[in-house]
Amino acid sequence: MTSWEDRVAGAVVGGAAGDALGAGYEFTVPAPDEPIEMRGGGPFGFAPGEWTDDTAQAAGILGVLATGSTDVLAIGQRFLDWMAGEPKDVGSSTGAVLRHAVTADHLTSSAATYFARNPRGAAGNGSLMRTSPVPLHALGDDAAIADLATRVSLLTHGDPLAAEGCVIWSLAIDRAVRVEVFDIRTGLRRLPSDRAAWWTDRIDEAEANPPSRFGTGNGFVVTALQAAWSAIVHTPIPEDRPARHLPLALRAAVRIGHDTDTVAAIAGQLLGARWGASAVPEAWRRMLHGWGADGADDLAQMAVRAAGHRAAEGRHEIVTET
Ligand SMILES: [Mg+2]
Repeated sequence: MTSWEDRVAGAVVGGAAGDALGAGYEFTVPAPDEPIEMRGGGPFGFAPGEWTDDTAQAAGILGVLATGSTDVLAIGQRFLDWMAGEPKDVGSSTGAVLRHAVTADHLTSSAATYFARNPRGAAGNGSLMRTSPVPLHALGDDAAIADLATRVSLLTHGDPLAAEGCVIWSLAIDRAVRVEVFDIRTGLRRLPSDRAAWWTDRIDEAEANPPSRFGTGNGFVVTALQAAWSAIVHTPIPEDRPARHLPLALRAAVRIGHDTDTVAAIAGQLLGARWGASAVPEAWRRMLHGWGADGADDLAQMAVRAAGHRAAEGRHEIVTET
């Protein structure tokens, strides 16, 4: 059994664990007998347990939501603050947009311009990988979650495909936290019917194929979501200790290869929301560190604060859709 607070914290801490676990394997495909450990390294030389751009940006979002604000410009400013620190690793489209925008109120238009100039290159996984804090501010309110997921995605990703992925995953996190289920189809109701049908085919494909099918091209938001979901559904849940599903599925996500930190970060958000921060192995939790928070405990406390503002306003009841 996990508590509500544990699952709220798990959405962010689980993502950070996947991110740091995958960082040492980025742009490789681990050999079948290669152990997957919290070793750091990789092309950008991360320390063991150090999270990357995925969690740095998530921490930026979380820092704003933890104050009770949903100001998207304040979130954008946090992205710019992080970028000003010259991080080791920045996704290509996010980096281009952040460098071009200068001030937060130019981010969304900068992202739209990037999309117009790169119509086939603006749907990276860079907004999906950081979406874990978004549902926490409005648990049980699908419309508010979908709205913020979209607006935060559009800060750096002009292609609506990236925002759709964030809506689907953010609402899946909401269900995992509140109802303790894995249900990534629930968010399809927030999309136009033709888009919901399109995503249904992609989700079906992820469930019908092994995770290894989603290695090549998983920098693309759709393939990254499929890779993360395939790793989750194709990793059996241990009957004796169900929460062990989290580290097992994170390792499966890293084994897919290529954009390993981000695929595992995406998987970790949903796994942590379902199984709680307590499912992240203690040794991993102690090692986690990076920009935007003072380790895993700080991420956990900020997550609970972000969720608590809603509860304090008396709007924590579950909103039932018709
Ligand atoms: Mg990364």
